[in-house]
Amino acid sequence: MSTTSKPRIAIVGYGSQGRAHALNLRDSGFEVTVGLRPGGPTELKAKADGFTVKTPAQAVAGAELVAVLTPDMVQAQLYRDVIEPNIAAGACLLFAHGFNVHYGQITPRDDLDVVLVAPKGPGALVRREYEIGRGVPSVYAVHQDRSGNAEQLALNYCGGIGGARQNAIRTTFKEETETDLFGEQAVLCGGATKLVQAGWETLVEAGYQPEVAYYECLHELKLIVDLFYEGGITRMHEFISETAQYGALTRGSYVVDDNTRAQMRKVLTEIQDGTFARQWIAEYQSGNANYKALKQGDLEHPIEAVGKKLRANMKWLSTAPQPAAAPSV
Ligand code: NAD
Ligand code: MG
Ligand code: MG
Ligand code: MG
Ligand code: MG
Repeated sequence: MSTTSKPRIAIVGYGSQGRAHALNLRDSGFEVTVGLRPGGPTELKAKADGFTVKTPAQAVAGAELVAVLTPDMVQAQLYRDVIEPNIAAGACLLFAHGFNVHYGQITPRDDLDVVLVAPKGPGALVRREYEIGRGVPSVYAVHQDRSGNAEQLALNYCGGIGGARQNAIRTTFKEETETDLFGEQAVLCGGATKLVQAGWETLVEAGYQPEVAYYECLHELKLIVDLFYEGGITRMHEFISETAQYGALTRGSYVVDDNTRAQMRKVLTEIQDGTFARQWIAEYQSGNANYKALKQGDLEHPIEAVGKKLRANMKWLSTAPQPAAAPSV
C-alpha cells in the first residue's frame, strides 16, 4: 500500500458526490481514474471533464484508494462482484456514507483499510465551495486500519476535496450513518418538506391565495435558513421584527410539540434498530413501487405548480448553481 500522501485514486460512480470528489481531488494534485459501466449514464460526462474512464473492475485494480460513490443500494453487489475480486492487497476502501458497512451489507476484506469521508452537503456544493477556496464541512471515520495509516489517508482525501478547510470532525461509521439518516429524515428533507406543505395547505384551505401562501411558507424559508447558516438562531432574531420574534417564540411550539419530539425519537429508534435500513433495502429490491408513488405525490403536490409559475419570473434562478438538484443528501 502507498505510503505517499497522494495515493492513486479510483472513483467509482460519477453522480452528485463522484463528480465533485473527482474534480476536486484532481485539482488538488491526486491522480484520479473514474470507474463506470461502459455506456452508463455518466460515462460521457466524466470523459467530457477530461478523466480517464475505465470499467469499475479495471479502475479498482489499478488504485491504491477506491472511493465507492455509487448509490448506496447498489454498493453491496458492486463490492461482491467487482471490488473485492479486484482491489489490491492492502488498498484503502473509502465510503461517503456508512450505511452498507454499518448495517452489515458489506464486510470489507480483512487486509483493507476502510474509511469514511462524508461531506455534509450535496456534490454540487462540494465542487462550488472548493472552486471559491472554501469547503463543505466533512466528517471522517476509520472502520479498519490495517496499514496503520488509515486515518491519515482519510484526512488526505478530506483535504483533497476541500473538506479539511472546514473543521473536519472525526466520527464513527455508526454515528455518521445514524445522524445522517436522522438529519435527512426528521429535519432537512422529510421534516422541512412536510412543514412547508402543511403550512401552505393550511393557508390555502382557509381561502388565502396559493401564490401568497407560497411566498410565506416556501420562498421565504431560504432567507431564514441563510440567517441560521451565517449566525445561528441568534442571527435570525437580530433580523426579524419583534412581532415575528414574539409570534415565533410563543407559537413555534404549537407545531413542534411533545408529540413531534416523540415522533422524532421514533424516527431515530427505527434508524438505530435497523428497521429503516431493512425496509429501504426490501423496497429497493422489490422494485421501489412505494418509493416511486410517494415521490410522485411530492412532485404532483399543488405547491409545485404554483412555485413553477412564480419562479418563471425570478430570472436569476435560471443562472444560479443548482446544488438542490442533487438526488440525495
Ligand atoms: P448519485 O446517484 O448521484 O450517483 C451515482 C453514480 O453511480 C452515477 O454515476 C451512476 O451512473 C453510478 N452507478 C450506479 N450504479 C452503478 C454500478 N452498479 N456500478 C458503477 N456505477 C454505478 O449518487 P450520490 O448521491 O453521489 O451518492 C453516492 C454516495 O455518496 C452515497 O453513499 C451517498 O449516501 C453519499 N452521499 C451523498 C450525498 C449527496 O448529497 N448526494 C451527500 C453525502 C454523501
Ligand atoms: Mg412574511
Ligand atoms: Mg413578516
Ligand atoms: Mg447528509
Ligand atoms: Mg444521506
